[in-house]
Amino acid sequence: MTAKPEGNLAGTALKEEDFKNKSILKEDWNDPGLSYTWSTGVAIGTYLEGLKKGTLLGVRCRSCNRIMVPPRMFCEECFKTIDEFVPVQDTGTINTFAICYIRTDASRQKRPQLPAVVELDGASKGMGILHLLVEVKPADVKIGMKVKAVWKPARERKGDITDIRYFRPMRPEELSPAAPAAVKRGAPVKAVKGKPKPKAAAVKAGTKAARPKPKAKPKRKGA
Ligand SMILES: [Zn+2]
Repeated sequence: MTAKPEGNLAGTALKEEDFKNKSILKEDWNDPGLSYTWSTGVAIGTYLEGLKKGTLLGVRCRSCNRIMVPPRMFCEECFKTIDEFVPVQDTGTINTFAICYIRTDASRQKRPQLPAVVELDGASKGMGILHLLVEVKPADVKIGMKVKAVWKPARERKGDITDIRYFRPMRPEELSPAAPAAVKRGAPVKAVKGKPKPKAAAVKAGTKAARPKPKAKPKRKGA
């Protein structure tokens, strides 16, 4: 360092030699090798455990009855503590999407990625998760389009959002009213604390809410 104080600035200019000669007090900090771990917490931890089992879990607020995804430990509208997990479906509706020619590291890519917010069937309106769309051309993606998760095989899942590889458009036969519920997963439902037997109610309500509504045409939402 050779900067000299200018004008009225106080201080002492340090020179490279000062460091070499150890004429000043200093501390070297080379490769601190920091590593750390943090807890996912109850809400996201349970959600990730669900993914490992091939199930998407939401939570229900006992006060306003909203089913929220991803799970959280309190309702941001009623400020009530949440203690009930309910399965939602792995099908949903595109709420919004982007056609990305630039990666997160700002490099360009020829084939765009299609990140989208998918509102999941069985969850309350507006409750969605961010994921990638595949098996669809960018020009064919529409807001309101029905999509379905494509999961990794069970042995490859590890409790990560990437346990879902991506979402793809639902096929006509999956959309027809005659089709059985697209997915009826034996999802684990658990109350994390307190009040007894929310289980039966949770499963029933979750399943009912999760049943896909027959839709002839995807509805367009405000772009
Ligand atoms: Zn609420």
